[in-house]
Amino acid sequence: MTEPILTVVVPCYNEEEVLPETIRQLRALRDQLINERLISVQSTLLFVDDGSRDTTWTIIYKASLHYPEVKGVKLSRNAGHQQALLAGLFAAKTRSDCIVSIDADLQDDISVIREFVKKFHEGYEIVYGVRNRRDTDTFFKRHTAQWFYQAMKAMGVQLVYNHADYRLMSRRAVEELERFEEANLFLRGIVPLLGFRSTAVFYDRKERFAGKTKYPLKKMIAFALDGITSFSITPIRFISLIGFLSFFVSILFGAYFLFLKFTGHTQTGWTSLITSIWLLGGLQLIAFGLIGEYIGKIYKETKRRPRYIIDLDLFNLPKALPFLPEETNVAERKQR
Ligand code: UDP
Ligand code: MG
Repeated sequence: MTEPILTVVVPCYNEEEVLPETIRQLRALRDQLINERLISVQSTLLFVDDGSRDTTWTIIYKASLHYPEVKGVKLSRNAGHQQALLAGLFAAKTRSDCIVSIDADLQDDISVIREFVKKFHEGYEIVYGVRNRRDTDTFFKRHTAQWFYQAMKAMGVQLVYNHADYRLMSRRAVEELERFEEANLFLRGIVPLLGFRSTAVFYDRKERFAGKTKYPLKKMIAFALDGITSFSITPIRFISLIGFLSFFVSILFGAYFLFLKFTGHTQTGWTSLITSIWLLGGLQLIAFGLIGEYIGKIYKETKRRPRYIIDLDLFNLPKALPFLPEETNVAERKQR
């Protein structure tokens, strides 16, 4: 069998501090894998610039001029990690047998890609990278992530535990993924739905090599909420359950109050009144909020907007473009 063509897809958002090192390490790894006859010489590294505001695109573009194996796709604006990843996967699938997705920050041990490719040779079409430990993450991140997995599981969403978006997919798997046209795409939940022969490889997660996280708490909460509401209607069911329970309780209370009234023990009733107003008001607001969350999802899906917009695609171009990236950057800065 000839060696498979591997494309490594790296979403990058404001990663100028770490990117040169990432490019260096991934190129070195690519050379090793080629020498070990694990991958074809046509294998490439594809960096997706997710509308960065720093020099990330310049770095990618310059590297692509120096090294033919370095390719870049530039999105027209920041579309978010998941979307940037998708843009990369779909651009890459035209000329790859297998595709590995990895973050730009070198937190995931890149040498694991070798194990991924070996599994691919054994016939696996999806290989999940799973973290052994998370002790390099902050205490807070570790625990919130733990709750997230548990909550998802309780709501019936199948996730691979401690697996982020570090994985290998065969070309066929990516082609099938493209048929999931939802705008609210939560990759970690979708990929297991693809089926195919899959396995996991374990590794230790390191600290970010440089730069800081692009996932502050606000984005993390949004991500978790998105994940839950695009996979499960359990929260809505839960709300109706609480509704029924409180209805039942209020009937019991009503009967009790009537009983008091007719036996002459009339209550002044302020406490019970005020607490039930607050309780029910709160419950109703939660219920509205939750339902609104799902309606928002439906609204987004029905619009069928594109998930991302590509500005430049050096991967599917035969040659590099004749102008320098600085020029495009200047034009963009003027626009802003
Ligand atoms: N990223 C992206 N678009 C965004 C936010 C992040 O492409 O809007 C990329 C980022 O450059 C990195 C990856 O997604 O390669 C993961 O982000 P980060 O390392 O900041 O997240 P964390 O590891 O802290 O969860
Ligand atoms: Mg990271």
